[in-house]
Amino acid sequence: MKDLNPVITGRKTSIFEVMSRLAIENDAINLGQGFPDTDGPEDVRRVAAEATVEGPNQYPPMMGVPALRQAAADALQRHYGLSYDPGDEILVTAGATEALAAAFSAFLTPGAGGEAVIFEPAYDAYFDMVEGAGGVVKPVPLTAPDWALDEDALDAAIGPETKLIVLNTPVNPVGKVFTQADLEAVAKRALEHDLIVVSDEVYEHMCFDGRRHRSIAALPEMRERTVRMGSAGKTFSLTGWKVGYTAGPPELIGAMARAHQYLTFATPPSLQKAVAYGLNKDTAYFDGLAADMQASRDRLARGLTEAGFGVLPAEGTYFLTADIAPLGFDDDVEFCRRIASEAKVAGVPVSAFYHATNAAPPSNFVRFCFAKQDTVLDAAADRLKSWIDR
Ligand code: PMP
Ligand code: GLN
Repeated sequence: MKDLNPVITGRKTSIFEVMSRLAIENDAINLGQGFPDTDGPEDVRRVAAEATVEGPNQYPPMMGVPALRQAAADALQRHYGLSYDPGDEILVTAGATEALAAAFSAFLTPGAGGEAVIFEPAYDAYFDMVEGAGGVVKPVPLTAPDWALDEDALDAAIGPETKLIVLNTPVNPVGKVFTQADLEAVAKRALEHDLIVVSDEVYEHMCFDGRRHRSIAALPEMRERTVRMGSAGKTFSLTGWKVGYTAGPPELIGAMARAHQYLTFATPPSLQKAVAYGLNKDTAYFDGLAADMQASRDRLARGLTEAGFGVLPAEGTYFLTADIAPLGFDDDVEFCRRIASEAKVAGVPVSAFYHATNAAPPSNFVRFCFAKQDTVLDAAADRLKSWIDR
């Protein structure tokens, strides 16, 4: 048999798979993989159920059902004052994951350069997907404890081969929300060097303490070079649905759509109709989601602080970053293995969110997902406290 492509054989099992498997084997509370433990709004689920029964359930339009493209455009106008034409500026995909895959395969050219600047720590899928598309990852570290943007490091990462910058705000795994100044710094480089911005905004409706999400697409001249991605999984606490929507100028969306037609071609029509219904919900729904998540963040932060962890600020997302140094630990991977098997709580080592070329990622941080019921968060904090005090 021929050798398999080394990129493919070199692929590791993702940290989420590893930790979720450990959680199941050990009957641990899973604060590792990021998903809510209660399903999103019943009315949205009912629309999906009815649409499935009524049909049609055949291939919907490749770009997405018109109702969802219209609802996504309306939502962007309503939340951020951004105008997109649902005809050729919105693409529906199988989650934001497929949108990212389509973007990287559309914008990076194997064998002809194609570097992607990625702020790290980053959602680990970016690294693998960029490299799978034949691109080269240029990591730019965000600096703890506030995950500040280092403009010199950003400048150093950009060169003649750079095609795009991946921006994720709010940031998985560390919950940073990019400030207006951060966004301006990124936009300045994109404009100076003629770069595309792949803007992953899946946690857009989870910004805390009065912060509002801002899209880089709203900055002057940035709409024309940005593809901005949202996810129904996050916005409606339905991560298993895998319905994503990307907005951008026709040329970029068209290039992504040509990749999408050979990735999945389409996403279940009934789910698309239900997400369209959901996106049309009034502002109270979106504000309520942020308020609920903020309360969960505070609850887990209290529990972890009482257990002895250092807890870093989380401005958005599903995730808290806990510092294990005050507990006397300095190896996040080993720590996560031990708490999964001994304390019966799973988390994710933050070092897993750095590119392989980073020789010394911080090793004292653990990501915990707080998108869980109060009783689950309390039980996890109790278990960790008992294990630490043992
Ligand atoms: N981007 C980020 C930053 C994520 O955390 C995730 C994971 N859930 C995704 C994209 C993928 O979203 P989806 O489930 O819609 O594919
Ligand atoms: N985005 C989720 C997380 O960061 C994981 C999604 C996945 O497992 N593919 O935990």
